[in-house]
Amino acid sequence: MHYRCVKCKKTYALASNQWKCGCQGLLHLEYDKQPLDFRATAVSRRHSLWKYIDALPFDKADVWESVTLGEGGTPLVSIGPNVYAKADYYMPTLSFKDRGAVTLIAMAKKLGVERVVADSSGNAGTAIAAYAARAGIACNVFVPASTSDKKIKQIEAHGAIIHKIPGTREDTAAAAIAMVEATNLFYASHIYNPLFWEGTKTYFYEVFEELGGVMPEAFIVPVGNGTLLIGAYIAFQELLAWGLIDKLPKILAVQAERCAPILKAFARGETEVAAVENEGTLAEGIAIAAPARGAEILAAVRATGGDIIGVSEEGIAAARTSLAAQGIYVEITSAANYAGYLDYLQKYPKLAEKVVVLPLCGAGIKSN
Ligand SMILES: *Cc1c(COP(=O)(O)O)cnc(C)c1O
Ligand SMILES: [Zn+2]
Repeated sequence: MHYRCVKCKKTYALASNQWKCGCQGLLHLEYDKQPLDFRATAVSRRHSLWKYIDALPFDKADVWESVTLGEGGTPLVSIGPNVYAKADYYMPTLSFKDRGAVTLIAMAKKLGVERVVADSSGNAGTAIAAYAARAGIACNVFVPASTSDKKIKQIEAHGAIIHKIPGTREDTAAAAIAMVEATNLFYASHIYNPLFWEGTKTYFYEVFEELGGVMPEAFIVPVGNGTLLIGAYIAFQELLAWGLIDKLPKILAVQAERCAPILKAFARGETEVAAVENEGTLAEGIAIAAPARGAEILAAVRATGGDIIGVSEEGIAAARTSLAAQGIYVEITSAANYAGYLDYLQKYPKLAEKVVVLPLCGAGIKSN
């Protein structure tokens, strides 16, 4: 198992603590995995993402057993004709970030790491802090100074040291990276470390399994840094290689109109993403003005024949109200996904006849 630079193809051992190639290229993960047998996993009594162990970078009996919090195995909930919410608000820290945090932190533990550094404005920091605590690994989390006290308290409750950084989300990342560079600590980044997608890809295995071995027409995927979106693409490629699907489901990505650098590049037919100014949005969790993996995200969406749209503030607020009226009170970022679905129905009316899945996360009471 090793990291490989997507640019120059150089490989690095996991123990090298490398989070980026010397050529500045970003890293992917390569290792031997077995095709999954979804008839077997469908009746597994292990109700977590660890039932997919054959396609995860761990052994059957391994360190993950002491790190898992039972993450995964979340249900599909009907929220309209042909549209299902995958209820990742049932995850241990209420978001799909737990999927990636558990695989990343379990590997850190396996490597003998004693302290990790992370940066996040919200759910990723919470998930990393929780799993690091679980694994007995110390943790420093960098957050923008504007992060709400409630979120900071939650991260601190898990024993993490908080660093509040003035300025933009990018300034926070730069401060975390400066600490990583100065100390050679393990960078538990949901953006740079490809071990994170080893967890997020299981979201798509679960949907395939729950739908009886078929994929929906499309997945609505919120995108800021792409932790769920790139996980989607990895899962699709695996299922294709294993002969379990013969075409890729579409990735219908959603950004907030007021912070939509990937949408902008997509609409212009570009292959790289230029930074934009974050104009401020209710959907803070997807407001990433300068996504490091922008080019990979564009390529993945295009490869599936997918699309990217931007949702309005009014649309986000209305979608949240409408979900709450169905009994589901999500964090406001997650409401953007349902708003995105409704906008896609306007753009592609025939989508109404096809099965579509979108993620819902969080607890309404945690955000305004
Ligand atoms: C992290 C997160 C997103 C966005 O994920 P990216 O990795 O930034 O693409 C969307 N919704 C929720 C609830 C999240 O926690
Ligand atoms: Zn390289």
